[in-house]
Amino acid sequence: MSHRIGIDLGGSKIALGLVSPADEILARRRIDTNAAAGLERVVKRIADEVEALAATLTSEEAVAAVGVGAPGPLDHIKGELLTLVNLPGISNSPFRRVLSERLALPVALDHDAKVAALGEFHFGAGRGRDSMIYIVIGTGVGAAIIYQGALFYGEGNSAGECGHMTVDPRGRPCHCGSRGCLEAYTGGPALSRQYAEMTGDDITGADIAARARSGDERALQVFIDAGRALGIAIASLAMTLNIETFVIGGSVAKAGDLLLEPAHETLPGYAFRAVSERVRVVASRLGEDAPILGAAHMAKRLL
Ligand SMILES: [Zn+2]
Repeated sequence: MSHRIGIDLGGSKIALGLVSPADEILARRRIDTNAAAGLERVVKRIADEVEALAATLTSEEAVAAVGVGAPGPLDHIKGELLTLVNLPGISNSPFRRVLSERLALPVALDHDAKVAALGEFHFGAGRGRDSMIYIVIGTGVGAAIIYQGALFYGEGNSAGECGHMTVDPRGRPCHCGSRGCLEAYTGGPALSRQYAEMTGDDITGADIAARARSGDERALQVFIDAGRALGIAIASLAMTLNIETFVIGGSVAKAGDLLLEPAHETLPGYAFRAVSERVRVVASRLGEDAPILGAAHMAKRLL
């Protein structure tokens, strides 16, 4: 087995990790995405970082493949980024081919939630399980479904868009045009909006979590509402798919039990007992390393 590089291409930052044959991250780099500079420029900057990481290896070692997790929508089969609202500079591009040609290495590309799910499944909170659902809660909310060890894509490659599953048909309006979506309760901007409506203070999800921990009742209520919505969504997914391990990642998941406790409490009310009793909802164990390890794992298939 050879070394690989796992890349987490985000809206504002690109994180890269050099991963050993034993799946350990040996070195990390982090640069601004600066997608507005365009595809060639972004690819060149990524290639510079890959080369810097490869230069830390001995003369007998080499990087053999690269994996990239990127925001969707994307076509993982063709290796193309589609219309990325937050990254217009590299939208609608044959990203995988351009990066692969630049590096003269094979490159795998998939959706960031799916890549992070692979990391958690193989090396983190899902390790040893047969199947797992990873729900990432950040600015947006999405999920990746791993069934019997393999990612589930759906017929049109869009499986896992659980941020816009309805948890309350008469609920809060969502920016997608629907209402009562999971994202309208749990996404970072949704938490900020709800807290601002109650208090007039427009602060981030992390700041709301800090206030909740210091006893701010209204901040606690924001997380209770978010956790309940998450519990309802998990109940529906567990009833439909009978998958038992749910791993919650993303920036909002850093709130930990503030979010997960109300989710646990809500779950039994919306699923058969035989199902809900077997469901485990746990926080991501790898955090920001999940996409790097997942991307490097995906790159293994190219070797
Ligand atoms: Zn929605």
